[in-house]
Amino acid sequence: MAAGRLLDGKAIAAAVRAEVRAGVDELVAQGHRAPNLAVVLVGNDPASASYVRGKMRASAAAGIEGETFKFDRDLSEADLLDLVARLNEDSSIDGILVQLPLPPHLDASRVIERLSPDKDVDGLHVINTGRLWTGRDGFLPCTPAGILEMLRRSNIETRMRRAVIIGRSNLVGKPLSGLLMRKGTDATVTVCHSRTRDLAAICHEADILIAAIGRAHFVTATMVKTGAAVIDVGINRIDDPTRDRGYRLVGDVDFKAVREKADWITPVPGGVGPMTIAMLLSNTLKAAKRLISG
Ligand code: NAP
Repeated sequence: MAAGRLLDGKAIAAAVRAEVRAGVDELVAQGHRAPNLAVVLVGNDPASASYVRGKMRASAAAGIEGETFKFDRDLSEADLLDLVARLNEDSSIDGILVQLPLPPHLDASRVIERLSPDKDVDGLHVINTGRLWTGRDGFLPCTPAGILEMLRRSNIETRMRRAVIIGRSNLVGKPLSGLLMRKGTDATVTVCHSRTRDLAAICHEADILIAAIGRAHFVTATMVKTGAAVIDVGINRIDDPTRDRGYRLVGDVDFKAVREKADWITPVPGGVGPMTIAMLLSNTLKAAKRLISG
């Protein structure tokens, strides 16, 4: 059997980013300032720092201004909330992103709740969650929105198909379930988690299987139906002495074996990750346009 086709997140994200760039150029040509994204980074987690650098690079390439507010890991919650309040008030800033995870002494949900929902370009504020679940316009969380966009642009049918998501986080699994079941997308969705019984059998029923677990190679070929589309959200570091840095990144899916059965599969890296960044840029442009139109 032929190997499944690659869902090339990098290429699809490049197309989205080019559209954002065109939208930014149009705003500027109309005499508006470029959209402006503020990113807050607390602590020195190397993975978070690298994600932030990637987001800033992508913003710059799309013509979006960006500023990173960097703090030591012992920043107090009061100081962080003060900063958020200032950024909310600052009319030269369209979008605010607080890079997660925050150090343990900072309550991430309390911080996110203080963001202005209209600048919440990560789509994690409870108001935007409510908008997602009630079908109103808001900011969609970037990873789930990126997955939907990737399916749509690859002409992968969702209507009347069975989608199974492994993972129920507020960041990925839960909002993705809401997006997949929306009218017009019309998938029938099952959400699995660590307490799910018969997980492998449920996964095997999926036309679209999404893994958002955080465990390397968790999804094996026996869990996948022949012809399924498999979306791998996971990013896991595994030791690799052949690499200079001593590790490599892999997803939650046993890519090689699963590709033999699936019709479509996302690689890691180069699948969902680039789409997440592209949707952040798209949300930032949307925030800027909303601010202009009042
Ligand atoms: P999370 O908050 O840790 O959630 C993981 C989910 O997996 C939980 O719902 C957990 O179930 C479930 N799970 C854990 N072990 C399981 C098992 N043995 N069987 C079934 N379900 C199990 O993680 P997350 O934030 O959603 O992220 C998931 C992965 O995606 C991570 O690797 C993360 O780095 C990656 N990620 C990638 C992107 C991207 O842009 N590519 C964006 C976000 C996240 P319980 O709820 O029962 O504990």
